Amino acid sequence: MPDILVIGSLNADLVVRAPRFPQPGETISGDDLQTFPGGKGANQAVAAARLGASVSMLGRVGKDNFGDYLFDNLQSNNVDTKFIQRDEASTGTAIIVVDPNGQNSIVLSAGANGKVSDTDVRTAIFSDFKLLLLQLEIPVGTVLSAAQRARERGLRVLLNPAPGRALPDELISLPDFLLPNETELGLLTNQPLIDIPSAEKAAHTLLSRGAQAIIVTLGANGALIITKEIAKHIPPFKVNVVDTTAAGDAFIGGFASTLLQNKSLEEAARYGCACGALATTKFGAQPSLPTKEEVERFMTLRGA
Ligand code: ADP
Repeated sequence: MPDILVIGSLNADLVVRAPRFPQPGETISGDDLQTFPGGKGANQAVAAARLGASVSMLGRVGKDNFGDYLFDNLQSNNVDTKFIQRDEASTGTAIIVVDPNGQNSIVLSAGANGKVSDTDVRTAIFSDFKLLLLQLEIPVGTVLSAAQRARERGLRVLLNPAPGRALPDELISLPDFLLPNETELGLLTNQPLIDIPSAEKAAHTLLSRGAQAIIVTLGANGALIITKEIAKHIPPFKVNVVDTTAAGDAFIGGFASTLLQNKSLEEAARYGCACGALATTKFGAQPSLPTKEEVERFMTLRGA
Protein backbone atom coordinates (compact mmCIF):
# COMPACT_ATOMS: atom_id res chain seq x y z
CA MET A 1 0.00 0.00 0.00
CA PRO A 2 1.24 3.54 -0.72
CA ASP A 3 2.61 5.67 2.14
CA ILE A 4 1.04 9.00 1.14
CA LEU A 5 -2.63 9.70 0.48
CA VAL A 6 -3.31 12.99 -1.33
CA ILE A 7 -6.92 14.18 -1.23
CA GLY A 8 -7.30 17.14 -3.56
CA SER A 9 -7.75 18.70 -6.96
CA LEU A 10 -6.92 17.70 -10.52
CA ASN A 11 -7.09 20.42 -13.19
CA ALA A 12 -6.36 20.73 -16.87
CA ASP A 13 -4.35 23.95 -17.26
CA LEU A 14 -5.21 25.60 -20.60
CA VAL A 15 -2.57 28.21 -21.37
CA VAL A 16 -2.55 30.84 -24.12
CA ARG A 17 0.20 33.44 -24.50
CA ALA A 18 -1.17 36.79 -25.68
CA PRO A 19 0.37 40.19 -26.54
CA ARG A 20 -1.70 41.69 -23.67
CA PHE A 21 -4.85 40.94 -21.63
CA PRO A 22 -8.11 41.55 -23.54
CA GLN A 23 -10.44 44.37 -22.47
CA PRO A 24 -14.07 43.47 -21.56
CA GLY A 25 -15.94 42.67 -24.80
CA GLU A 26 -12.72 42.54 -26.82
CA THR A 27 -11.31 39.61 -28.83
CA ILE A 28 -7.56 39.39 -29.36
CA SER A 29 -5.36 36.72 -30.94
CA GLY A 30 -2.97 34.63 -28.89
CA ASP A 31 -0.47 31.83 -29.58
CA ASP A 32 -1.50 28.18 -29.95
CA LEU A 33 -3.19 26.64 -26.91
CA GLN A 34 -0.98 24.56 -24.61
CA THR A 35 -2.53 22.01 -22.26
CA PHE A 36 -0.80 20.89 -19.04
CA PRO A 37 -1.83 18.61 -16.19
CA GLY A 38 -2.29 20.63 -13.00
CA GLY A 39 -4.28 21.16 -9.82
CA LYS A 40 -2.48 21.50 -6.51
CA GLY A 41 -3.48 18.01 -5.36
CA ALA A 42 -2.23 16.28 -8.51
CA ASN A 43 0.92 18.43 -8.66
CA GLN A 44 1.86 17.51 -5.08
CA ALA A 45 1.05 13.82 -5.66
CA VAL A 46 3.32 13.77 -8.73
CA ALA A 47 6.00 15.79 -6.88
CA ALA A 48 6.18 13.22 -4.05
CA ALA A 49 6.04 10.25 -6.45
CA ARG A 50 8.94 11.59 -8.56
CA LEU A 51 10.93 11.85 -5.33
CA GLY A 52 10.47 8.14 -4.70
CA ALA A 53 7.47 8.14 -2.33
CA SER A 54 4.60 5.74 -2.94
CA VAL A 55 1.50 7.87 -3.44
CA SER A 56 -2.22 7.36 -3.90
CA MET A 57 -4.56 10.17 -4.93
CA LEU A 58 -8.24 10.60 -4.06
CA GLY A 59 -10.27 13.06 -6.14
CA ARG A 60 -12.70 13.51 -9.01
CA VAL A 61 -12.42 14.23 -12.72
CA GLY A 62 -15.17 14.43 -15.36
CA LYS A 63 -16.09 11.74 -17.90
CA ASP A 64 -14.56 13.94 -20.59
CA ASN A 65 -11.28 13.97 -22.51
CA PHE A 66 -9.55 16.13 -19.89
CA GLY A 67 -10.57 13.55 -17.30
CA ASP A 68 -8.84 10.78 -19.31
CA TYR A 69 -5.81 13.02 -19.74
CA LEU A 70 -5.40 13.73 -16.01
CA PHE A 71 -6.09 10.13 -15.03
CA ASP A 72 -3.46 8.81 -17.48
CA ASN A 73 -0.98 11.46 -16.34
CA LEU A 74 -1.18 10.29 -12.72
CA GLN A 75 -0.66 6.69 -13.81
CA SER A 76 2.35 7.54 -15.95
CA ASN A 77 3.87 9.27 -12.90
CA ASN A 78 3.36 6.15 -10.74
CA VAL A 79 0.56 7.68 -8.66
CA ASP A 80 -2.10 5.12 -7.69
CA THR A 81 -5.52 6.12 -9.14
CA LYS A 82 -7.78 3.63 -7.36
CA PHE A 83 -9.57 6.47 -5.52
CA ILE A 84 -10.11 8.75 -8.53
CA GLN A 85 -13.79 8.88 -9.45
CA ARG A 86 -15.34 9.94 -12.77
CA ASP A 87 -18.05 12.56 -12.21
CA GLU A 88 -20.92 13.87 -14.39
CA ALA A 89 -19.48 17.38 -13.89
CA SER A 90 -16.72 18.71 -16.18
CA THR A 91 -13.11 18.12 -15.25
CA GLY A 92 -11.61 21.03 -13.29
CA THR A 93 -9.90 23.52 -15.59
CA ALA A 94 -7.73 26.59 -15.19
CA ILE A 95 -7.99 28.97 -18.15
CA ILE A 96 -4.74 30.91 -18.13
CA VAL A 97 -3.72 33.90 -20.23
CA VAL A 98 -0.03 34.85 -20.03
CA ASP A 99 1.21 38.26 -21.19
CA PRO A 100 4.72 38.99 -22.55
CA ASN A 101 5.90 39.99 -19.03
CA GLY A 102 4.99 36.53 -17.74
CA GLN A 103 2.03 37.88 -15.74
CA ASN A 104 -0.95 35.47 -15.45
CA SER A 105 -4.66 36.07 -15.57
CA ILE A 106 -6.54 32.92 -14.51
CA VAL A 107 -10.17 31.75 -14.42
CA LEU A 108 -10.47 28.57 -12.37
CA SER A 109 -13.44 26.25 -12.95
CA ALA A 110 -13.58 23.78 -10.04
CA GLY A 111 -15.92 21.36 -11.91
CA ALA A 112 -15.58 17.84 -10.51
CA ASN A 113 -13.15 19.02 -7.79
CA GLY A 114 -16.10 20.79 -6.16
CA LYS A 115 -17.87 17.43 -5.77
CA VAL A 116 -15.20 15.67 -3.70
CA SER A 117 -17.20 14.69 -0.62
CA ASP A 118 -17.06 13.16 2.81
CA THR A 119 -18.49 9.98 1.27
CA ASP A 120 -15.55 9.87 -1.16
CA VAL A 121 -13.14 10.26 1.76
CA ARG A 122 -14.69 7.20 3.40
CA THR A 123 -13.85 5.01 0.39
CA ALA A 124 -10.18 5.08 1.44
CA ILE A 125 -8.90 2.90 4.28
CA PHE A 126 -6.86 5.51 6.11
CA SER A 127 -5.00 3.09 8.34
CA ASP A 128 -3.25 1.76 5.20
CA PHE A 129 -1.36 5.08 4.87
CA LYS A 130 1.24 6.96 6.91
CA LEU A 131 0.65 10.53 5.80
CA LEU A 132 -2.27 12.59 4.45
CA LEU A 133 -1.61 15.57 2.21
CA LEU A 134 -4.35 18.20 1.77
CA GLN A 135 -4.87 21.56 0.01
CA LEU A 136 -7.94 23.83 -0.38
CA GLU A 137 -9.03 23.31 -4.01
CA ILE A 138 -11.79 20.90 -2.89
CA PRO A 139 -14.64 21.78 -0.45
CA VAL A 140 -13.32 22.84 2.98
CA GLY A 141 -15.85 20.57 4.74
CA THR A 142 -14.29 17.58 2.95
CA VAL A 143 -10.78 18.73 3.90
CA LEU A 144 -11.85 18.98 7.55
CA SER A 145 -13.47 15.54 7.66
CA ALA A 146 -10.42 13.99 5.95
CA ALA A 147 -8.12 15.62 8.53
CA GLN A 148 -10.28 14.39 11.41
CA ARG A 149 -10.38 10.84 10.04
CA ALA A 150 -6.61 10.84 9.53
CA ARG A 151 -5.98 11.98 13.10
CA GLU A 152 -8.24 9.23 14.46
CA ARG A 153 -6.31 6.65 12.41
CA GLY A 154 -2.87 7.93 13.46
CA LEU A 155 -1.73 9.42 10.12
CA ARG A 156 0.37 12.54 10.03
CA VAL A 157 -1.58 15.36 8.38
CA LEU A 158 -0.01 18.06 6.17
CA LEU A 159 -2.22 20.95 5.06
CA ASN A 160 -1.11 23.36 2.34
CA PRO A 161 -3.71 26.15 2.88
CA ALA A 162 -3.84 27.11 -0.81
CA PRO A 163 -5.53 28.99 -2.40
CA GLY A 164 -5.17 31.32 0.58
CA ARG A 165 -8.21 32.08 2.74
CA ALA A 166 -9.29 32.36 6.37
CA LEU A 167 -9.88 28.98 8.08
CA PRO A 168 -11.74 27.75 11.19
CA ASP A 169 -9.51 27.09 14.23
CA GLU A 170 -10.17 23.36 13.90
CA LEU A 171 -8.34 23.25 10.55
CA ILE A 172 -5.49 25.24 12.07
CA SER A 173 -5.02 22.90 15.03
CA LEU A 174 -5.75 19.46 13.49
CA PRO A 175 -2.86 19.21 10.99
CA ASP A 176 0.59 18.17 12.22
CA PHE A 177 2.06 20.63 9.70
CA LEU A 178 0.65 23.76 8.05
CA LEU A 179 2.58 24.69 4.92
CA PRO A 180 1.58 28.16 3.63
CA ASN A 181 3.56 30.47 1.36
CA GLU A 182 3.81 34.12 2.40
CA THR A 183 0.59 35.20 0.67
CA GLU A 184 -1.37 32.32 2.16
CA LEU A 185 0.04 33.01 5.64
CA GLY A 186 -1.04 36.65 5.28
CA LEU A 187 -4.58 35.62 4.33
CA LEU A 188 -4.76 32.99 7.11
CA THR A 189 -3.73 35.47 9.78
CA ASN A 190 -5.07 38.70 8.25
CA GLN A 191 -1.66 40.28 8.74
CA PRO A 192 0.52 42.09 6.21
CA LEU A 193 3.79 40.24 5.58
CA ILE A 194 6.71 42.34 4.45
CA ASP A 195 9.77 40.43 5.63
CA ILE A 196 10.99 37.33 7.51
CA PRO A 197 10.33 38.81 11.02
CA SER A 198 6.71 39.64 10.08
CA ALA A 199 6.24 36.10 8.68
CA GLU A 200 7.61 34.73 11.96
CA LYS A 201 5.20 36.91 13.94
CA ALA A 202 2.22 35.81 11.81
CA ALA A 203 3.19 32.13 12.21
CA HIS A 204 3.25 32.63 16.00
CA THR A 205 -0.37 33.83 15.93
CA LEU A 206 -1.22 30.45 14.33
CA LEU A 207 0.58 28.67 17.20
CA SER A 208 -1.61 30.60 19.64
CA ARG A 209 -4.67 29.34 17.69
CA GLY A 210 -3.50 25.76 18.28
CA ALA A 211 -1.28 25.10 15.26
CA GLN A 212 1.38 22.44 15.91
CA ALA A 213 4.06 23.32 13.34
CA ILE A 214 4.13 25.90 10.57
CA ILE A 215 6.54 25.71 7.63
CA VAL A 216 6.38 28.97 5.68
CA THR A 217 7.84 28.93 2.17
CA LEU A 218 9.41 32.31 1.38
CA GLY A 219 10.16 32.06 -2.36
CA ALA A 220 13.70 33.30 -3.04
CA ASN A 221 14.22 33.65 0.75
CA GLY A 222 13.96 29.93 1.52
CA ALA A 223 11.68 28.72 4.31
CA LEU A 224 10.86 29.20 7.96
CA ILE A 225 10.07 26.51 10.55
CA ILE A 226 8.00 27.65 13.51
CA THR A 227 6.93 25.39 16.39
CA LYS A 228 6.56 26.06 20.12
CA GLU A 229 10.17 24.90 20.51
CA ILE A 230 11.91 26.18 17.38
CA ALA A 231 12.02 29.20 15.08
CA LYS A 232 14.49 28.34 12.33
CA HIS A 233 15.19 29.96 8.99
CA ILE A 234 16.26 27.59 6.18
CA PRO A 235 18.31 29.53 3.63
CA PRO A 236 17.47 29.20 -0.09
CA PHE A 237 19.59 27.47 -2.73
CA LYS A 238 20.71 30.07 -5.27
CA VAL A 239 19.63 29.16 -8.82
CA ASN A 240 18.96 30.75 -12.22
CA VAL A 241 15.20 31.19 -12.13
CA VAL A 242 13.22 30.47 -15.32
CA ASP A 243 9.66 30.09 -13.97
CA THR A 244 8.57 29.82 -10.32
CA THR A 245 5.33 27.90 -11.08
CA ALA A 246 4.95 24.82 -8.84
CA ALA A 247 7.95 25.67 -6.61
CA GLY A 248 5.61 25.35 -3.63
CA ASP A 249 4.26 22.00 -4.85
CA ALA A 250 7.82 20.70 -5.34
CA PHE A 251 8.74 21.88 -1.79
CA ILE A 252 5.73 20.09 -0.30
CA GLY A 253 6.42 16.86 -2.22
CA GLY A 254 10.02 16.94 -1.00
CA PHE A 255 9.09 17.80 2.58
CA ALA A 256 6.48 15.00 2.76
CA SER A 257 8.72 12.34 1.21
CA THR A 258 11.56 13.20 3.63
CA LEU A 259 9.27 13.05 6.69
CA LEU A 260 8.49 9.43 5.74
CA GLN A 261 12.16 8.59 6.20
CA ASN A 262 12.01 9.68 9.85
CA LYS A 263 14.28 12.66 9.20
CA SER A 264 14.12 15.88 11.23
CA LEU A 265 11.90 18.84 10.38
CA GLU A 266 14.97 20.80 9.45
CA GLU A 267 16.23 18.10 7.05
CA ALA A 268 12.77 17.84 5.47
CA ALA A 269 12.59 21.62 4.95
CA ARG A 270 16.11 21.77 3.52
CA TYR A 271 15.29 18.97 1.06
CA GLY A 272 12.02 20.82 0.23
CA CYS A 273 14.04 23.99 -0.50
CA ALA A 274 16.27 22.05 -2.92
CA CYS A 275 13.18 20.66 -4.70
CA GLY A 276 11.55 24.13 -4.87
CA ALA A 277 14.73 25.75 -6.16
CA LEU A 278 15.15 23.07 -8.87
CA ALA A 279 11.51 23.53 -9.95
CA THR A 280 12.19 27.23 -10.65
CA THR A 281 14.94 26.34 -13.15
CA LYS A 282 12.44 24.81 -15.65
CA PHE A 283 9.28 26.09 -17.33
CA GLY A 284 5.81 24.84 -16.36
CA ALA A 285 4.23 23.10 -13.38
CA GLN A 286 4.53 19.30 -13.52
CA PRO A 287 7.31 19.30 -16.17
CA SER A 288 9.51 21.20 -13.69
CA LEU A 289 9.01 18.84 -10.72
CA PRO A 290 12.39 17.19 -10.05
CA THR A 291 13.20 13.50 -9.61
CA LYS A 292 14.97 12.03 -6.59
CA GLU A 293 18.18 11.60 -8.65
CA GLU A 294 18.11 15.26 -9.77
CA VAL A 295 17.68 16.50 -6.20
CA GLU A 296 20.44 14.25 -4.86
CA ARG A 297 22.87 15.37 -7.58
CA PHE A 298 21.96 19.04 -6.95
CA MET A 299 22.41 18.77 -3.17
CA THR A 300 25.74 16.93 -3.52
CA LEU A 301 27.01 19.62 -5.92
CA ARG A 302 25.96 22.31 -3.43
CA GLY A 303 27.59 20.46 -0.55
CA ALA A 304 24.24 20.21 1.26
P1 ADP B 1 4.74 28.96 -3.98
O1 ADP B 1 5.10 28.36 -5.30
O2 ADP B 1 3.66 28.23 -3.25
O3 ADP B 1 4.49 30.45 -4.02
P2 ADP B 1 7.37 29.58 -2.89
O4 ADP B 1 7.50 30.62 -3.97
O5 ADP B 1 7.46 30.04 -1.48
O6 ADP B 1 6.02 28.74 -3.04
O7 ADP B 1 8.49 28.49 -3.20
C1 ADP B 1 8.62 27.27 -2.50
C2 ADP B 1 10.07 27.00 -2.20
O8 ADP B 1 10.82 26.92 -3.43
C3 ADP B 1 10.75 28.09 -1.37
O9 ADP B 1 10.60 27.80 0.01
C4 ADP B 1 12.20 28.00 -1.84
O10 ADP B 1 12.88 27.04 -1.10
C5 ADP B 1 12.09 27.54 -3.28
N1 ADP B 1 12.15 28.71 -4.17
C6 ADP B 1 11.12 29.40 -4.72
N2 ADP B 1 11.56 30.45 -5.45
C7 ADP B 1 12.92 30.41 -5.38
C8 ADP B 1 13.98 31.21 -5.93
N3 ADP B 1 13.72 32.29 -6.68
N4 ADP B 1 15.26 30.85 -5.63
C9 ADP B 1 15.55 29.78 -4.88
N5 ADP B 1 14.58 29.00 -4.32
C10 ADP B 1 13.30 29.30 -4.56
